[in-house]
Amino acid sequence: MTQADFDELQRLQALSAKLGADPLRTQGAGGNTSLKQDDVLWIKASGTWLAHALERNIMVPVHLPPLRMALAMNDPRSETAVAFVDDARNPDRLRPSIETSVHALIPHAVVAHFHCVETIALAVRKDCEAIVASRLAPLQDVAWTYIPYRRPGLPLAKAIAERARPQTNVLILGNHGLVVAGATVAETEDRIERVCAALRTAPRPVPQADLAALERLVAGTDYRLPHDPRLHGLALDPVTRAVVQGGSLYPDHVIFLGPGVVEAPDIATGAAMRQPGWRDEPPLLLSLPGQGVVPHRTAKPSAEMMALCLLDVAQRLAPDAELVRLSPSDEYALTHWEAEKYRQALDTTRTTDRQP
Ligand SMILES: [Zn+2]
Repeated sequence: MTQADFDELQRLQALSAKLGADPLRTQGAGGNTSLKQDDVLWIKASGTWLAHALERNIMVPVHLPPLRMALAMNDPRSETAVAFVDDARNPDRLRPSIETSVHALIPHAVVAHFHCVETIALAVRKDCEAIVASRLAPLQDVAWTYIPYRRPGLPLAKAIAERARPQTNVLILGNHGLVVAGATVAETEDRIERVCAALRTAPRPVPQADLAALERLVAGTDYRLPHDPRLHGLALDPVTRAVVQGGSLYPDHVIFLGPGVVEAPDIATGAAMRQPGWRDEPPLLLSLPGQGVVPHRTAKPSAEMMALCLLDVAQRLAPDAELVRLSPSDEYALTHWEAEKYRQALDTTRTTDRQP
């Protein structure tokens, strides 16, 4: 690797850390970045966090020509790309991102994909393309394409290959997020800032919860108050409540929140929290309509992080916005996908600690 290549990889890691540190752009292990250098694709490892890019190794080198050949031949090994990892330069035995095929098919040297809240708040709307067209029109260097929802991984890569043109440098992924590409890290970073600013929607303010009343309600139950009181907005803002209860909106919503934020059937007595009667596991996040949202004691901080992302998306949706939801078959495809199970296992939203 030349010094110039090394420096550019360092710049990608700095950009990755910056994207990962902003909860409006990345939540937990979501998002991935890559850099193509000659025949190598440096891609973020599955389950690692962009936010940790400057503290630890999160990048895996993958041999690009055989991976692209496998993609062209519909070789099933292209799904995980593990067969194409440059093992000699992967001392931590990291596994490539589940979205490696997406990065491999995009011709640009630098590709950043992340779950930008501003993008998702438009990408779940039926009129997404019309809004994005008007917002991005002033950006002369942006060649964008809308990609309807496909399961991440190979199906998404194929949809991008069918629709994107060689010059396409911004992809709006329906019910999913944003991809920005460029010739260099600096060019990509500049484009990211301008695109995200153009896609911005002012959120509604989050209503305040009566914390003392909630504290009394959860006393003696398996539920507690959330770390961030903004989370209560999911139960307090009527538009957001309707958005949340209406079904899944994007993949990480399904993968990390499961059935989502479950409304408690009986809040007056707190019976739902004391005698759950849930057939399987108790809900990770219980919504007490008009009062607030309480996480189960087994819910990890990542569950709250994913729920805050849902809040951030919903607070940007107008009451009259027509939404596109993931279908039951979309949800099934996500929850029964081996690569996703691996990613989820690395960062579950529920601790396994079970007390009687
Ligand atoms: Zn994604």
